[in-house]
Amino acid sequence: MTDVIASSVNSEPTKGYFAQQLSDLNWSEITALHQNATSSDVDRALSASKRTLADFAALISPAAVPKLMDMIAQANALTRARYGNTMSLFAPLYLSNTCANECTYCGFSMSNPLKRLTLNQAQIEQEIAAIKGKGFDHVLLVTGETSKVSMPYFQKVLPLFRQHFSQVSMEVQPLSQQDYQQLQALGLDGVLVYQETYHQPTYQKHHLRGNKTDFVYRLETPDRLGQAQMHKIGLGVLLGLEDWRTDTLMMASHLRFLQKKYWRSRFSIGFPRLRPCVGGIEPKSVITDRELVQLIAAWRLFDADVELSLSTRESPEFRRFAGQFGITTMSAESKTQPGGYAEETPKALEQFSIHDDRSVAEVAKMLTEQELQVVWKDWDPALRS
Ligand code: SF4
Repeated sequence: MTDVIASSVNSEPTKGYFAQQLSDLNWSEITALHQNATSSDVDRALSASKRTLADFAALISPAAVPKLMDMIAQANALTRARYGNTMSLFAPLYLSNTCANECTYCGFSMSNPLKRLTLNQAQIEQEIAAIKGKGFDHVLLVTGETSKVSMPYFQKVLPLFRQHFSQVSMEVQPLSQQDYQQLQALGLDGVLVYQETYHQPTYQKHHLRGNKTDFVYRLETPDRLGQAQMHKIGLGVLLGLEDWRTDTLMMASHLRFLQKKYWRSRFSIGFPRLRPCVGGIEPKSVITDRELVQLIAAWRLFDADVELSLSTRESPEFRRFAGQFGITTMSAESKTQPGGYAEETPKALEQFSIHDDRSVAEVAKMLTEQELQVVWKDWDPALRS
């Protein structure tokens, strides 16, 4: 087991992609790291100056629950030291709900009988006006995964966004390194690509048709992004598909690998929990609110610099609390259906249900009351080297 930890965390990665390293990470051994963690492992982790994967395992384990308040206090101190009293806000903009994949947990799955819509230029301009009117300067472009909404479409629409927003990120199908370089030249700053789960048998069980069935190609996407020197790369697992602790440890190992190899890029971590959707499934491994608090605090203790992002899947109360000690970026007033900002579209078009439906003005007010400064812009194209 020691060798696994050492090779995944402490040694310099040599060559290859993370997919090669993942095959050396034994799921049962990684599970044992958190299952066997003791109170003294937690104390050691809390007092460590530089935390290892074993420390992180202890911090997300049940043994750390009695120390949760200590974790939150330390996480808060680290977050404020690194980010100050700030919270970045962004808007996800769904460009298309067309998808050629079948994912058991998603309302956009190809077999779901819902109306499909891909925004044209006029509709996009309406969405841009609506989002800019709310004050946003960072937009996350989201689409389903299909050849109908791919590079030609992205190349056409990105310049529209570049004109209006300081920061443009994407959450779309995995692309090649060359594609990423082309999109970067058009103004793309960041890409989120969630692996959903690092447990390949579970991954295959939930991704039934389409290109997303290729576990390895998806897993190699952050490497291609790193090689393209993308400014920001976002990772995440869909909390609930598998044992969330083991999946998270795999992702922590992935993050360390990427940070060492692609040190020019920044990284962010998302915390999507399975939410009800049309035709969706129930979570296999439920993560409670308290456990999600523990997980966010543990991430901050594991990495003081990484951006921690929380979506409107979570409740207003939860977001209020999580913003106090670890989360540094939030979406607000999100619409998870194409055209949702400019006009009211049927809820049946949504990818998933949101839990925090407050206006962005209400979210900003809540943050101000917490003495957090709202950051609309933390990046500018002029900063590109
Ligand atoms: S999760 Fe993504 S790839 Fe899967 S069905 Fe939904 S939009 Fe398509």
